[in-house]
Amino acid sequence: MNKETSNIRVRFAPSPTGPLHIGGVRTALYNFLFARKHKGTFILRIEDTDQKRFVPGAEKYIFDALNWCGLTPDEGSSLGGEKGPYRQSERKEIYLSFAQQLLESGHAYYAFDTAEELDEMRKNMKASGVLAPTYNSISRSSMQNSLTLGLDETKKRIELGDPYVIRIKMPRNQEIKFNDKIRGWVSVNTNHIDDKVIYKSDGMPTYHLANVVDDYLMEITHVIRGEEWLPSAPLHVFLYECFGWSSKMPSFAHLPLILKPDGNGKLSKRDGDRLGFPVFPLNWSVSDTNEIFSGYKQQGFYPEAFVNMLAFLGWNPGSEQEIFSLTDLISAFSLDRVGKSGSKYDYEKTKWFNQQHLRLKSNSEIFEAITVLDNSILEKFSKEYILEVISLVKERATFDLDILKEGACFFSNEITFDTSAVTKKWNPDFIPHLNSLSEKLFAINKFDEKNIEKVFHDYLQEHNLGLGKIMPMLRIATTGRLAGPSMFSSLEIMGKEKMKTRIKDAVNKIKNG
Ligand code: GLU
Repeated sequence: MNKETSNIRVRFAPSPTGPLHIGGVRTALYNFLFARKHKGTFILRIEDTDQKRFVPGAEKYIFDALNWCGLTPDEGSSLGGEKGPYRQSERKEIYLSFAQQLLESGHAYYAFDTAEELDEMRKNMKASGVLAPTYNSISRSSMQNSLTLGLDETKKRIELGDPYVIRIKMPRNQEIKFNDKIRGWVSVNTNHIDDKVIYKSDGMPTYHLANVVDDYLMEITHVIRGEEWLPSAPLHVFLYECFGWSSKMPSFAHLPLILKPDGNGKLSKRDGDRLGFPVFPLNWSVSDTNEIFSGYKQQGFYPEAFVNMLAFLGWNPGSEQEIFSLTDLISAFSLDRVGKSGSKYDYEKTKWFNQQHLRLKSNSEIFEAITVLDNSILEKFSKEYILEVISLVKERATFDLDILKEGACFFSNEITFDTSAVTKKWNPDFIPHLNSLSEKLFAINKFDEKNIEKVFHDYLQEHNLGLGKIMPMLRIATTGRLAGPSMFSSLEIMGKEKMKTRIKDAVNKIKNG
């Protein structure tokens, strides 16, 4: 280990059951920030033990999404590392030996109950007044398991090929306590925890066993994950005790939920585009239905703006500063400043973050981006001219694409007139003024913003004209619209020839409908 690294090791452990959604990316981000801040290691582990929920393409999506956000792992599936493999399906044998260890130490047992028998048990318990029946320290005594059947019968059944699962044997009435970095002390009585299956009949471990074994073997120091896993944490703590690994147990930090904009429940994958904004970082296409769910990337968001927004969904820097680069986030981040309560997602705020990051970009960076979006402008205009348009319209843009939209009248020789603007503000009585103003402006030697403004105002004064009459017509004639950046700067960039032709064309075209 070189001296730039510490022994902090965190992991992001998604299941490849579909695209990563906002909540998952935020979990990855906090893990990444924590690792980078402490010069530790950020690991990507793919938790694919539930083969029924496996979705092809999901792992690649996860990897691509992390890369787009700049959260590239140090170790992980398809990256390798000393503690691999990092895909749980490739670690099958490892889990079996640990399940056996628990069987031998009496912390786990075989259970042969069929689905019908389990249903029957639940029905009977409900009938006797138990509200939430579970397989636990009481009900297990009347079920088909190695505790009730005895060693010989159990052996026989296994040899006969009877399907079985392995369950954890939760003790009665013990307190399990741990100190969560975000929630503080959490204490749960084992009477409220069921005898969870830790090893399934398909020869795969369940999430609980695999997760704990892997965190231990991969030497994870901090488990930073979503709040939905808080109820599982006591079982995980118990598993550490059973294995005799308590001194190596990682610290836990359970992150608050990301809520829907109205605060009504968790923002979920199923929200898709339903609420009018993407919940995924990248587009995701569902192969069977050809349905496409939109992603922030394809909607034109910058990864740094997306990540900045996500950082604030649950964390705050304790200052007024809101705009952070990823590097700034690394130095500012701490788990102490992660709140307990859920944060409402806000799409308008997300766009605001993008607008702010766009303003931080240099004109050349924006130039690169917009010429990728539309490279035809490169054939028609010089780089200098495009850069001037960028600086003119930058303040009015949220996305790169807005630069092209706002700058449309500069990037095309033909302009289209906004009909509602024409109806509202085009007054044929003022056309003679517009024409003579055009002459006056055209006569300016140094056609720059300052001189244009002066000639314009002098003209108004001389003819005793209000600004509200002639300015909108000048705007419509030269840009097609009523709204836009400074008129005088716009004319300067356009140049006087173009201005004159446009005014002439507008007068003709608008008159002729
Ligand atoms: N595989 C779990 C998930 O999909 C990981 C939970 C954890 O980080 O422990 O969220």
